[in-house]
Amino acid sequence: MVVIGGGFGGLQAVLKLRRAPVEVTLVDRRNFHLFQPLTYQVATGALSPGEIAYPLRAIFKRNRNVRVLMAEVVGFELDARQVLLAPVVAAGGPATIAYDTLVVGGGSQYSYFGHDEWRAEAAEVKSLESAISVRNRLLAAFEAAELESNNARREPWLTFVVVGAGPTGVEMAGQIGELARDTLRRDFRTIDPRTARILLVEAADRVLTTFPPSLSAKAARSLERLGVTVLTGRTVVGVEAGGVTVADGSGSSQHIASRTVIWAAGVTASSLATQLGELTGAEVDPAGRVTVEPDLTLPGRSEVFALGDMVRVRSATGEPIVFPGVAPVAMQQGRYVAKAIRDRLRSRATPAFRYRDKGNLATIGRRAAVADIKGLKLSGSIAWLTWLLVHIWYLIGFQNRLLVAIRWTSSFTTHGRGTRLIAGPDWRRELDERS
Ligand SMILES: Cc1cc2nc3c(=O)[nH]c(=O)nc-3n(C[C@H](O)[C@H](O)[C@H](O)COP(=O)(O)OP(=O)(O)OC[C@H]3O[C@@H](n4cnc5c(N)ncnc54)[C@H](O)[C@@H]3O)c2cc1C
Repeated sequence: MVVIGGGFGGLQAVLKLRRAPVEVTLVDRRNFHLFQPLTYQVATGALSPGEIAYPLRAIFKRNRNVRVLMAEVVGFELDARQVLLAPVVAAGGPATIAYDTLVVGGGSQYSYFGHDEWRAEAAEVKSLESAISVRNRLLAAFEAAELESNNARREPWLTFVVVGAGPTGVEMAGQIGELARDTLRRDFRTIDPRTARILLVEAADRVLTTFPPSLSAKAARSLERLGVTVLTGRTVVGVEAGGVTVADGSGSSQHIASRTVIWAAGVTASSLATQLGELTGAEVDPAGRVTVEPDLTLPGRSEVFALGDMVRVRSATGEPIVFPGVAPVAMQQGRYVAKAIRDRLRSRATPAFRYRDKGNLATIGRRAAVADIKGLKLSGSIAWLTWLLVHIWYLIGFQNRLLVAIRWTSSFTTHGRGTRLIAGPDWRRELDERS
């Protein structure tokens, strides 16, 4: 078996097969599993990178039937049952890898609505590197404001724009609010970080549209208490070096001067999904997701499964279903694929994939979160505690769970953030380019 992607879906598939009589090769271009739901905490100095990432080799060190290969998958030869690889660490290594069964979980990436040129100015927090880059930009903005004596020039440094008010945008805006109003409030001598403007721009008419309206309203109030201005019904129509341009429904637009823009809007599936669509004739939707059969295989290719953010699933009646782009969907699909493979080994049939929605969680700040768990609507401290426990539970590695629990306890009691560092190999160049 070859599994592509050690993310939420691929990892679960391999975890559930590590004691099965199969030889598994897990291919990922990174050597770690990344817990993406907490990258925004790295971006705001609350956690350090090592606490939310875990080496794939360490996870499977005791499973002799699992081999981890660090390489970039660049294509497929489905008739020959081969995956085409490109090296990421050094030239050499296999150019292809053969399989009997293939599982593809390549995930997704942020899309800039066809404006890739916005990417340089509007950073996102999907990878560890981008989260560190956002952390550098946020902290450097406060430093630049402290050095700037001209009020008009200082203001854009203290204006932070977050684009997209889904869970990531809401969490990001809330954390910047806490950083400015709580963590940094005594750190500077010229500026008062509490005067920072944090704007959360959303095209829909409310934040967290996947939650019931009553919880969206509670989340918006919690954000406002943290000093975040929520701008709903506004679409970003331009991102430039000095800020963003937003348009409202009436067609009028406004320029917001800001030196720090964070992108948390739409996503597009991994390009591996389009490749599989082209090779098998499976439909690909506008977000780049390939449509898989109810058992998560590609049409006419019962030996090829695809899962997670990069797929939508055909229902028994033929309609494609887009499940939410969240970790539980990918994890359940990973476990389903592992079960389907074990069933095949025993010549048993596997019923179609069914998603069990266990609820929806988003946090805003200290003791502020919202949760919609099977119709039970929670907010405030109880939702926040639920959020903390769920995230600690699902982190990979006992050490990371312990470290994150200690960090969060310490941040809660001291109001501190341990990793407020402007660092990384490119920090100087990155900041020079933006100053
Ligand atoms: C900032 C952010 C916050 C989020 N917050 C939440 C949250 O709070 N709750 C929640 O449930 N979900 C959240 N999500 C969504 C969740 O992370 C995704 O739904 C989940 O990661 C999807 O799992 P996946 O297995 O499909 O892909 P991923 O977990 O993205 O894994 C894909 C893997 O494939 C590898 N890969 C990709 N292409 C190649 C290639 N060509 N060659 C080799 N390897 C490759 C990648 O390196 C990666 O390891 C968040 C996502 C982001 C970006």
